[in-house]
Parts: sequence; structure tokens; C-alpha cells
Amino acid sequence: MNKLKAVLLLLMIFSFEIASAQSYIYIKPDRIFDGEKNLERYGVLIKNNKIESIENQLTIEKNLPKDTKVIDLKGCTLLPGLIEGHTHLFLHPYNETPWEDQVLKEARSYRTSRAVVHAERTLKAGFTTARDLGTEGAEFDDVGLKKAINDGIIEGPRLLIATKALIATGSYAPKGFSPDIQVPQGAEEADGHDDLIKKVRNQIGHGADLIKIYADYRWGLRGEAAPTFSIDEIKLIVETAKSAGRPTVAHASTAEGMRRAILGGVETIEHGDNGTSEVWKLMVEKNVCLCPTLAAGDAISQYRGWKKGIDPEPERIKKKKETFKQAFDAGVKICFGGDVGVFAHGDNARELEMMVEYGMKPIDALKSATSINSDAFHLENQVGRVKVGFLADILVVDGNPTQNIKDIRNIKLVMKDGKIIGE
Ligand SMILES: [Zn+2]
Repeated sequence: MNKLKAVLLLLMIFSFEIASAQSYIYIKPDRIFDGEKNLERYGVLIKNNKIESIENQLTIEKNLPKDTKVIDLKGCTLLPGLIEGHTHLFLHPYNETPWEDQVLKEARSYRTSRAVVHAERTLKAGFTTARDLGTEGAEFDDVGLKKAINDGIIEGPRLLIATKALIATGSYAPKGFSPDIQVPQGAEEADGHDDLIKKVRNQIGHGADLIKIYADYRWGLRGEAAPTFSIDEIKLIVETAKSAGRPTVAHASTAEGMRRAILGGVETIEHGDNGTSEVWKLMVEKNVCLCPTLAAGDAISQYRGWKKGIDPEPERIKKKKETFKQAFDAGVKICFGGDVGVFAHGDNARELEMMVEYGMKPIDALKSATSINSDAFHLENQVGRVKVGFLADILVVDGNPTQNIKDIRNIKLVMKDGKIIGE
């Protein structure tokens, strides 16, 4: 046999091996939280990057394919990989560097370097998917970050990205400079018919998976939050984004900002601090979810000097607790999202703990971080549930977080796309 033939034969054998190689992993915890309910003594069989079966352990063990890798995790709970609903990978905690200094003084190369680390920390904390709601001045750098993750160059969650986000001219920040100079903003200014259409399309063209708007911001006469875009402007944004298959989401904390955003057709309201019973009713009617970002408010109050557990609760915290409970009781769907970046990436579970602290049952908070976020972000049939045919994005923790939410931090295993992280 000449050399060429030998090489060809080897190649054929090699490609046949690849084609026929199936890898099976069987994980055997005490229980599975499948995104909606607990299944005791169930196990999961993973074939390559997908969930092949979920069954009673005795049943599954009768038919294990040969060469299955068995991972026995006694005392543990297996969950879908968690979905972070509101992160800013290009921001780091404001008590390290104020937001304004991050936007104005940090080089984009520096911010990207940090974002790479933040992405890895997010994933290792069990968050296999994340919705990044704006680079806050770092332009389209989330597009490259997402690609680097998808290409396997760096480790991080599956990303849904907003790129620059949209603000009404004059409404956003940094603020307080001489009116004679042009200060770069933390998001992209746009107004009126043609400008809005163009900028929405431009963000989509550059890679935005969704459009984020700031429906209100602190630009009222006395520095209070006030609405920004008109309802017609929001409708136009939503319609333009929708025709390219993208949802629109809104930062809104005033009742009027929320009302306009909801009537304008956004799918999620971020923060929602000052919602009223009318607003909650409208959200239920229009099937708009609330992403409450409890941990961000909690962190900011502490950065401003509040000693949690010692000092009385600041007004802002009291109000937030109240409105969050009202929304939940009114039947508003609650997404999970902490506004990470305000506090440390990797500490995403802080929002889960706060949801429970503010009155939710642990299992309901976990539903928000899995099946509810999956549905709200159009990820149904892919992630957010432990279900046959879904991607093998899985988290295993010691203990039972559906009873004790703090157990969500006892990480034993994170799997993304069938691959165990850290192996
Ligand atoms: Zn945010």
C-alpha cells in the first residue's frame, strides 16, 4: 500500500469513529427540580449535548447504554442551568468604581477584559444562559464577547444581547457636565420616527438579540425619574424590532414609564419599583413580565451607607418590598434578574435569596430563574427545563434549594451543552 492510500484509509477510519461516537452521561442526584416541580429519585441521561431521558432511577438504570459515564451525587439536587435575566457583563460593582467613571474613564479594552472574567464567573455560578441588557457605553463589544463564548474561545453563558440600548435624547447619563461639551452616554440616543427606526435596525444589524429602551430615567425637574419616550415612539420601536423577530424590553421604575412601555408593547419591565395596582393589572392583561432587580437596589442602598440588619430600612427598600409583593400577589409573572454588574458577577444567586427574603417561596424563585425566564425570553424548547430533547445545560447543588434557597450556592457540577465546566 502506498503512503497516500494508507493516509486515506486512516482518515476514513477516523471519520467513521467520529460519526459513530456517542457519549452518554448519567447523573443520579437525590432529586430533580425540572423547572416546575421536584421529582424524587429521578435521574437524567445525557446523550452528547442533549437530554435523552429523565426517569425514575431504577427504570433508567435497567437500560443504561454501555460506556455510560455515571455521576452519582448523593444528597444533591439537579436543576436546569439557571437563566440570569438582567446582567451587564461590561459593568463591575459601583462601590469599586462608580458607574459614571466606568463609562467615561475605563478603556473599552479594559472593560472587555473584565467582561471575559465576568462571563466565566457567571457560568461557574450555575448560570448557563444570561440576558445582557446593555453594554453601557461599550458600544457593540457584547457582540464579540458572545461570539468568543459561542466559538469556545472563552467560557461563559449562552448570551442574549441588547448591544447599546436606546435612550431619548437628554434623558440618560453621565450628566452634570458643562453644556458646552459633548459627553458620551451610556446608551444610544434616538428620537422620532426615522431616527428610531434607523437605530433599532442598526442595533439589530450589528447583532442585537433584543432591543432595550429606557422608558424613564432620572431627568425630572428635581432630578426625579420621569418618562422619556412617548407611547407612539415605544410602539414604533417595538414594531420595528418585532418585524425582525426581536422583542423589546424596558427599563422603567415610574408608574407612567411602565404604563407607556406596557401599552407600547414591551415584553418585560426591568425594575418596576413604583408600579401601582393599575399597572400590575395592565401587566397581567398584556402578559408582560416584571424583572424586579431586588439585589441591585439592596446593593446600592448599602453602597450609600445603609448597614443592613443594623440600621432601619431606607424608604427605597421598604417601598420595593411592598411593590414587589403587590406585583406577585396581583399575578404578574416575575422574571429572575438581579441587574448584575451593580454587584459582583458570580454572585447572581443574591437575587434568588432576595426574592425569598421579600416573600417568595424558594421553589417559585427557582421557577422564575428557569422555566419562567425561558418562556419570557423565547428560549422554550431549548433551555430552562430538564426535559427530553432540551440542551444539556444542568446545575447540580448539594442540598435542596427548593426548600433552602442558600443551597443554590453549594455547586457540585455545572454542565453547558453537555460539557462539564472545569473538566
Ligand atoms: Zn440594568
